[in-house]
Amino acid sequence: MKSRFAPSPTGYLHIGGARTALFAWAWAKKQQGDFVLRIEDTDRERSTQVSVDAILDGMNWLGLDYDEGPFYQTQRFERYKAVIQQLLDEDKAYYCECSKERLDNLREALMAKGEKAMYDGCCRDKALTSGHHKVVRFKNPMNDMVIFEDLVKGKISIANKELDDLIVARSDGTPTYNLTVVVDDHDMDINHVIRGDDHINNTPRQINLYQALEWDLPEFAHLPMILGSDGARLSKRHGAVSVMAYRDAGFLPEALLNYLVRLGWSHGDQEVFSLAEIVSLFDLKDINKAPASFNEEKLLWLNQEYIKNATPEYLVKHLQWYLQHQKINTDNGVDLALVVASLQQRSKTLLEMVEGLKMFYQDFDVFDEKLADKQFKDKAPLEALMKKLSQLEVWKADEIKGIIKQVCDELALGFGKVGQPFRLALSGNGNAGSIDLVAELIGKATTLKRLKKAVDF
Ligand code: GLU
Repeated sequence: MKSRFAPSPTGYLHIGGARTALFAWAWAKKQQGDFVLRIEDTDRERSTQVSVDAILDGMNWLGLDYDEGPFYQTQRFERYKAVIQQLLDEDKAYYCECSKERLDNLREALMAKGEKAMYDGCCRDKALTSGHHKVVRFKNPMNDMVIFEDLVKGKISIANKELDDLIVARSDGTPTYNLTVVVDDHDMDINHVIRGDDHINNTPRQINLYQALEWDLPEFAHLPMILGSDGARLSKRHGAVSVMAYRDAGFLPEALLNYLVRLGWSHGDQEVFSLAEIVSLFDLKDINKAPASFNEEKLLWLNQEYIKNATPEYLVKHLQWYLQHQKINTDNGVDLALVVASLQQRSKTLLEMVEGLKMFYQDFDVFDEKLADKQFKDKAPLEALMKKLSQLEVWKADEIKGIIKQVCDELALGFGKVGQPFRLALSGNGNAGSIDLVAELIGKATTLKRLKKAVDF
């Protein structure tokens, strides 16, 4: 069993592409087969190295490892040329000299009659030889039907008379998508072609090519498209659609993979799947025929679940990229894993976590003015805390909590009237968890320094 992911490097790896890659990957892994990555870069005007890198980065970040590849179609031109020549030699393809003008007129005339725009086979029997401005067209069978059993969509059939003679080589000799994809899937022994259903109309044409070349057909599985919240096909208009934009926004790769696997596939009403479960439970037959809807809320919920349930050490590993990016050095402060553990239950994203952990490693310049106006009005609680905490010898959350209680009792104030200004004093923005634990982790010296800063303010 071998499947593949065959992106065209004309942009970043987007949500739809990643979902296709994941399904093809999971199906191969489930059957102990191989997964191949192939970069379809024959469109030289639109393909860029930046996009190739973005695809490789995205696959790497998601952990979708490939057993073979990446293969590049631009390195296989000789092979495509040979196949095109074989088709010509066997009279299964022909040179066509129809001008753009003629084809435009033909299209317009057909459309005016309400008919499908199709090439009329004008050069099919002219037996033209090669030459400038000539394309090569495949002799699509004129009769019979193409019938195949799609593993997702079921039986699909189309009459050959609905299909025109496909261009397999452009006038500059470069091969076209339908030709290269067939040659590659055959040469790379791909027996499961899993891809987006935007290619479903190409499949009958590709099947005809396989047959002309007397090659075994693979199985085909066309995945339903992904819609945005407004019911239109998911696109940039709906916000972030690039996989790496989700990394940047603080998502864990497992959360995104878990979210992606549910886009068009389900297993009962289970929502949370480990990678191992994805591999063992995934089945093409459980893919929905109907389009899937992208729901960012649900992705956020899943991310939060993964953050809550991860080990702090694991999160520390994933935080490194953000810390470097924001130039936050945690080497000289409290153990990051302890801080992470204190933030895990309250962070929906790793970015939120980074916001929350800054105060443990960096001083802030100013207090949130609105909050400070309210919470620092009475400085008695801050002064009392400062005095008592400076005498505290065992710097532990429980002891610190004891001091807060003492201050509350002495000033006859509720816990909030002391805890809130304390939290603001330590965080600068009030955005912090359990204040006794925060104070413990921040350490005695910094706690006292920030209390003083609050009193002075
Ligand atoms: N390169 C094509 C694309 O990115 C996919 C080809 C295929 O999966 O057959 O849309």
